[in-house]
Amino acid sequence: MKKNKNINIAIDGPAGAGKSTIAKMVSKELGYIYVDTGALYRAAALYITENGIADEDIAEELEKADISLRFVEGVQCVYVGDKDVSGLIRTPEISMAASRTSAIPAVRAYLFETQKKIARENNVIMDGRDIGTVVLPDADVKIFLTASAEERANRRYKELLEKPDCPTYEEILSDIIKRDYQDMHRETSPLKQAEDAILVDTTELNLEQSAQAIVDIIREKTS
Ligand code: C5P
Repeated sequence: MKKNKNINIAIDGPAGAGKSTIAKMVSKELGYIYVDTGALYRAAALYITENGIADEDIAEELEKADISLRFVEGVQCVYVGDKDVSGLIRTPEISMAASRTSAIPAVRAYLFETQKKIARENNVIMDGRDIGTVVLPDADVKIFLTASAEERANRRYKELLEKPDCPTYEEILSDIIKRDYQDMHRETSPLKQAEDAILVDTTELNLEQSAQAIVDIIREKTS
């Protein structure tokens, strides 16, 4: 049973399904805090990579990392110690490193309580891979947000097109398929739809339609 009266919404789904953009729109509409748990896994991957930590030392070394989320006027920043690393964690290298290191049980165990605490203390929309299944199994509403791999690659490609060194569509699609596979097949907390989650497929929906569909579900379930 849930022991607090804060409302917790879990949104899980594969890379590039639009979780963060859509969850931000929904949380603005409903006045909840948006928590992007991927940023925690990315910050852990950055710390592990930058410090050259071997897998067997991760449990011990992560204890020293002090990874946390801070919210400034509702906007999330991720910190390692006193350093805001939010601007360093969105590279393709860190995406792949996060997908690899997030499969290590010690990494998941280390970040578990950070996520639980934020959800205990706030009305949250929390997005990730195992929020509805592991982190917040008693969430008030669970959404599984997805879209076809091709559509997700297409969206990411359009986002990156303006940037220097934009990868090709094929490279992006191949990264997405690889990350999906890794996230769905790891032993600890694999990406999967919780039994009581509502599936929202955004392949044919634009951002506004997707956000509206989720707002409608949340309003219906929490009224
Ligand atoms: O959501 P985002 O793409 O930023 O997440 C980066 C990686 O972190 C994912 O590919 C996944 O391996 C991992 N992750 C996770 N559990 C979460 C959030 C992210 O394993 N709750």
